[in-house]
Amino acid sequence: MHKIVALTGAGISKASGIPTFEEMGDLRDKLSRRYFISNPEEFYRILSTMKQNIEKAVPNAAHNALAQYGVPIVTMNVDGLHRKAGSKEVIEIHGNLDWVLCKKCGKKYEFNWVRNSLYCEECGDLLEPDVVLYGDQIPYYFNAVEMIGSADKLLVVGTSFYTSTVNDLVYMARRAGITVDTINAAAEVEVPKYLRNNHGGE
Ligand SMILES: [Zn+2]
Repeated sequence: MHKIVALTGAGISKASGIPTFEEMGDLRDKLSRRYFISNPEEFYRILSTMKQNIEKAVPNAAHNALAQYGVPIVTMNVDGLHRKAGSKEVIEIHGNLDWVLCKKCGKKYEFNWVRNSLYCEECGDLLEPDVVLYGDQIPYYFNAVEMIGSADKLLVVGTSFYTSTVNDLVYMARRAGITVDTINAAAEVEVPKYLRNNHGGE
């Protein structure tokens, strides 16, 4: 039996109605550290819209199949849908939209706090999103490397290979002799099929 780890991107959540970055157009450029610092109101307006989409979304068959088969997941997505589907081992490499944080005093707020105020009620500092922005380090990168390194098969789902993080992780997996399978179209159909085949007779 294979030990499978999944690496997922925006494509897996498309069938759940979460727009991909391509569909978001120039919003993608605004999810940067520089934009956040220079224009926090507009930045949080964009994030709040993303949050609204996420709150409405439900996991699709691809999320559910990965959860059902207990496949550990490294995801680029901030939508939390793998956790909603019941997956226990999930590394959200770009963070999520559950919380905002005050870096100065450490106080944590539910994300929707920013609908009323962008500032910490304790110390008045600008609140930080719990997502990784363009220009940031990726805090859980080495956890992701470790999780993928423990597999003998890497299932890459719904990523367009333009982010260097995805490229690096896939390259690293291949170098380590891990078989890499890619599903980019119709993830909600293809992933359940793939998992049934790979766990057949179990
Ligand atoms: Zn504070």
